[in-house]
Amino acid sequence: MLDRQLQAIADEPGWSRALSDLVVDVGDLLDLLGLTHTDLGVDVDSAFPLRVPRGFVARMKYGDANDPLLRQVLPLAAEREPAVGFVEDPLQEDEAVLAPAVIQKYAGRVLLIAAGECAVHCRYCFRRNFPYGQHRLRVSAESLSAIRADHTISEVIASGGDPLMLTDRHWERLLDELESIAHVRRLRIHTRLPVVIPSRLTLRLIDRLAASRLQVVVVVHVNHPNEIGAELAQGTGELVRRGVTVLNQAVLLAGVNDSADVLVQLSEALFAAQILPYYLHLLDPVAGTRHLQVEEERACALHAEIRDCLPGYLVPRLAREVPGQTAKQWLA
Ligand code: SF4
Repeated sequence: MLDRQLQAIADEPGWSRALSDLVVDVGDLLDLLGLTHTDLGVDVDSAFPLRVPRGFVARMKYGDANDPLLRQVLPLAAEREPAVGFVEDPLQEDEAVLAPAVIQKYAGRVLLIAAGECAVHCRYCFRRNFPYGQHRLRVSAESLSAIRADHTISEVIASGGDPLMLTDRHWERLLDELESIAHVRRLRIHTRLPVVIPSRLTLRLIDRLAASRLQVVVVVHVNHPNEIGAELAQGTGELVRRGVTVLNQAVLLAGVNDSADVLVQLSEALFAAQILPYYLHLLDPVAGTRHLQVEEERACALHAEIRDCLPGYLVPRLAREVPGQTAKQWLA
């Protein structure tokens, strides 16, 4: 069950019911899928514990220990194996904190850590060790003052955790605040929540985003075409119809999407849901994720293959983030 803080956040109907009934026990997950511990080398006691919505589990294939959605959420003993170059904070975000809940890595843009929780725990997450406790998870006057004081900031990127863990009511207030800062022109929301709980894209939220004076971009996070269903497509389609740009960023993951066929299907399924492929990221080398890494040379070869199969607008940029650089590095 979720802790009390999360319960308080999730005070909306529909998606809040899904949030209050997550699968958090490895044994329960394996039972739901007809699998056993011995098939997989699972870790039942991970410091970054299992958390996955039941609707996302329902998209996994029963009896398939290698299901690409399962591999993204199942804690494995392999995560405990040390690996050279894989560290707690690979992007050194702790050094880029501008104010409570505000991180600045690139000129003109700031990250706003709007929530410290997610509906799903993705095993490859580069923030799995992020010290959320040191950040105020409600946007404070101090956070907004830092943005208000810097006239070079034209874009606020709501991040987390997952920023859509905030209720619609909280989002209405946050939008009011951001819209009152004249030099902020764009709002980007990075979220995986609508992918794992599609009912999170409520009409109330869509209405408010569509009515904003800010140009709003929603960047969802889909790694495999099996993650896309009719309800997600309905929500993203409605956002697009109402003038919100919807993009996708994926992470290239061994055993999940490291084949040209899957990546081509992913781009096509995204576009059918009115989502444009944006980035295909190399894995950030966070401790415990070595077994999910796809080497750069192979990533570039895969990218070349999908370029041969897709129109240019469906080819995501292959990129990686390097701490201290002024922008993401584009590969291939
Ligand atoms: S939803 Fe995003 S922030 Fe949360 S665990 Fe997954 S990748 Fe990390």
